[in-house]
Amino acid sequence: MIFLDRAKLFVSGGAGGDGCASFRREKFVPRGGPNGGDGGKGGDIYFEASSHVNTLYRLSLNPHIKADRGEHGLGKDQYGRSGKDVIVAVPEGTIVYDLTIPASIIPSQQEQDEARLKGVLLGELLKPGERLLVAKGGRGGRGNTAFKSNFNRAPREAEKGFPGEEKTLLLELKILADVGIAGLPNAGKSSLLARLTAARPKIAAYPFTTTHPVLGLCLWRDRRLLIADIPGLIEGAHQGRGLGHEFLRHIERTRALIHLIEPKEKGVMEDIRTVEREMGAWEKGLLKKPRLMVVSKADLGDLAQRSYREIRRRRPKAALFLISTQTGQGVTEMLDALARVALAV
Ligand code: GDP
Ligand code: MG
Repeated sequence: MIFLDRAKLFVSGGAGGDGCASFRREKFVPRGGPNGGDGGKGGDIYFEASSHVNTLYRLSLNPHIKADRGEHGLGKDQYGRSGKDVIVAVPEGTIVYDLTIPASIIPSQQEQDEARLKGVLLGELLKPGERLLVAKGGRGGRGNTAFKSNFNRAPREAEKGFPGEEKTLLLELKILADVGIAGLPNAGKSSLLARLTAARPKIAAYPFTTTHPVLGLCLWRDRRLLIADIPGLIEGAHQGRGLGHEFLRHIERTRALIHLIEPKEKGVMEDIRTVEREMGAWEKGLLKKPRLMVVSKADLGDLAQRSYREIRRRRPKAALFLISTQTGQGVTEMLDALARVALAV
């Protein structure tokens, strides 16, 4: 959850304008027929992904979003003007859930359970310019002209405008990190992120950072790398057990992974396979992403060297690095390689 920025919004589409009941009144035209126009349609509300908006914070300050109502119809068959649509800019990576739809309309039990917590998925806004209609404006009421028939040549009734859709929405922002740091607990993931964040004055903590830094913005040779620490992958995380689930979902979208490996006396291949099994079980695509194998804690000396050589021997083609977050050894080389794979366009 730490990755997620959230906001709850209340949207209401504009009401339709009322239809008009009126009759033609002119000198020398006795019993002029009905001429009440229809009401205008209420405005719709759209969300649109924009690269200029980075967080949901501003939206959450003004959670009520309303579109204008349609104008009422007028005599002489004048239609009411439609209410203006409202287009709300949201960050790329915003997922929209509708909390208003009752979960019981969903067939699968598992999805029902999810929906009770989050609402029903309404849509995702991933690329700039993508739009999602979130609340429709109401239709305008028909004026009395529309009710004219052979049986009723002078209808007095006109329709009221229809209300716009009203919804309570939950917005979640999936931050699209460039790089994920994966590895077993204690591999040194948090330390690495802290190192990348603290070591250089131009590196800023990302606004979503909570008590522990999970996301760091790293400016490296004038390029930006948004790096996410993926806390402890655990066995079974892909089945929704443990923290890993949300985080794995997140790293699906990264462009490269750092697979951080803690040196161990007993060897490291088993640890490596554990993490790879988790990735593969979640999504095969993860294993195809560019991945740097990074042995941590180089300052431990011989132990780290042995783990490094073990991987070199067993995985001769791996992009392999040996680093220490304490001394900074190897970090520059790793970042250069990272920037090459993660920022290649
Ligand atoms: P995480 O669980 O993968 O996030 O690992 P942490 O960053 O919390 O680190 C786990 C432990 O390893 C901590 O006690 C760190 O101080 C230690 N550690 C991390 N990086 C290094 C390093 O480069 N050298 C040494 N000697 N210890 C490290
Ligand atoms: Mg950690």
